[in-house]
Amino acid sequence: MHNSIEIPLFIEIEENGLHLINETLRRLNIYINNPLIVTDKGKSSDYALIVKREMDIDDDMVVYVENNTIEQVDIVEKIARKKKCDFIIGVGGGLALDISKMASYKFGSYFISIPTLPSHDGISSPVASLRDGNIRKSMGAAMPMGIIVDLDVMVDAPKRFIHSGIMDLLSNHSALMDWELAFNKGYEVRFNGFAKAIASSAADNVLNYPYNDILTKEFLHLSINSLVLSGIAMEIAGSSRPASGAEHNFSHAYDMLYPDNKLLHGEKVGLGTLIISFIRSKKEYERMYACYKRFNLIESIRELNIPMDNIIKSVLKAKEIRRDRYTILTELSISYNEIEKIIQEILL
Ligand SMILES: [Zn+2]
Repeated sequence: MHNSIEIPLFIEIEENGLHLINETLRRLNIYINNPLIVTDKGKSSDYALIVKREMDIDDDMVVYVENNTIEQVDIVEKIARKKKCDFIIGVGGGLALDISKMASYKFGSYFISIPTLPSHDGISSPVASLRDGNIRKSMGAAMPMGIIVDLDVMVDAPKRFIHSGIMDLLSNHSALMDWELAFNKGYEVRFNGFAKAIASSAADNVLNYPYNDILTKEFLHLSINSLVLSGIAMEIAGSSRPASGAEHNFSHAYDMLYPDNKLLHGEKVGLGTLIISFIRSKKEYERMYACYKRFNLIESIRELNIPMDNIIKSVLKAKEIRRDRYTILTELSISYNEIEKIIQEILL
């Protein structure tokens, strides 16, 4: 048995990080000959243009992606191949990073991740969330060679995205319990203690953060480091298991039932974590709930006004999807009314 893992060569989280990109790369002895920038058409494109200017990249070496489809990946891969690019630099929230990591994987170029939002652990994970027709899929992709984060960009992110990142981190605890459960019951052959240690430390960084104010550069630094650690835990595990259990199945189920929803990944996962923790153990739930309360996350979820019926149907549906992934929901029989009571108590 052996383990072959890919870990980024560098992670640089600093103020003014975008403007300092040349100095950073030079200091790290990273030489880039012909990079392709991939970004989206939203606010991230402003940040991508800073990178373009600083690195003196031509206009035709910037691709604006519009959706997270396989077709979009193919377009980026073709351009990178035609232009003989050595690096793909993804600048964005989630979309541009997912497309970049998959296009780099298929083409074989290096990938640098420049996240512009701290909202999920995909900023440095070997998994891309893509659409194949109408189906959203999590697919294996390239780990970034490096991650560059500008704290001035992150601190400008709307609160909702910061909350989302926290909830994606906290969900690791729920995911790890499901992974261990599946392993102990013989439904999972591989369980890796290193991956568990890393994923749970990443969640603990946030769970045990001693201050209530999370809209600070200090907290964002910690949170982004932790999101990157989550991604590395997935790479070590060789699957998303350390950061994705029943609570993520709830989120996937919600997306399957309500594909046009505008909720963030971390918001669905965050609600899922509370529901699953409530079902799993009182102690776990109370620990989670206290943290959610402290960071105003319960308030945040309430303000989303997610219809009760949607939540309940997604919990029921979560049982059916990813049948290969054994979780606490697999062995549970729970009724519509029972779930309704749980949600009422959580969001009281
Ligand atoms: Zn997640």
